[in-house]
Amino acid sequence: MLSGATDMEMPDQIAYPHRESRIAARRFYANFTIPAVLILNLNMKQHIHPEGALVLFSGGQDSTTCLAWALSRYQHVETIGFDYGQRHAIELTVRPTLLEKIRHFSPDWNARLGADHMIDLSLISQLSATAMTENIAIEMQANGLPNTFVPGRNLMFMMVAATLAYRRGLTVLVGGMCETDFSGYPDCRDDSMKALQIALNLGMASRLKIETPLMWIDKAQTWELAGQLGEQALIDLIREHTHTCYLGERGALHDWGYGCGTCPACALRARGYQQYLSGQTPATA
Ligand code: ZN
Repeated sequence: MLSGATDMEMPDQIAYPHRESRIAARRFYANFTIPAVLILNLNMKQHIHPEGALVLFSGGQDSTTCLAWALSRYQHVETIGFDYGQRHAIELTVRPTLLEKIRHFSPDWNARLGADHMIDLSLISQLSATAMTENIAIEMQANGLPNTFVPGRNLMFMMVAATLAYRRGLTVLVGGMCETDFSGYPDCRDDSMKALQIALNLGMASRLKIETPLMWIDKAQTWELAGQLGEQALIDLIREHTHTCYLGERGALHDWGYGCGTCPACALRARGYQQYLSGQTPATA
């Protein structure tokens, strides 16, 4: 990675007037790290809702993008993470640094970002044996689901988050569930989340809302969304400080971030980043 990019003359494309220019700018800036302070924060234009939000934040690309999304929309945002006996707890170790980076990304985000809550859900590893919690190879099962699927995990996460949100007076739950290029996990489906929202509100006499900003976009569009929320500085932050790899590999920094490069999570992230750079995402401008 090169430094000193800020000494260079900025190309005209920085204003992103056309999609082609934006793609050219992406390729240009993909090689540099730009201090966040130099980036015009587009979030200033976003209407800020008075509700408080709780973001399911694991330390991965998706949940970090969700956190940025929530910080650009809600007056007060808290985060919740779960320790459920993950095989590789590296995503838990990147969380504090990542949160600090997000906190200092802009004064607005710093003001809105509240407490982080770490919850012990080790009972999940007592209930199920999967490639996420046991040292077994990742493979497809007879029921068509990969053995990285932890049955009930996202449902349990949302239920626990709802319980905490109720106590904290937060009314929006934000999760990175995605139905577009997911691994077929049934608890990532939009219908699952909508049904859960109804069940939670009936069971707690509450008016919680579950928001899933990534539900209908693919990985390339998730990078695109990060660029819209925080320009190249946020993309760089996500590349360098989030963790996605199923195998816990964090040795070499690829252009799309750290990881083994071959597990399903790395492959999805890397392919999405290349598609994003090459402008294969639907035009949003
Ligand atoms: Zn990997």
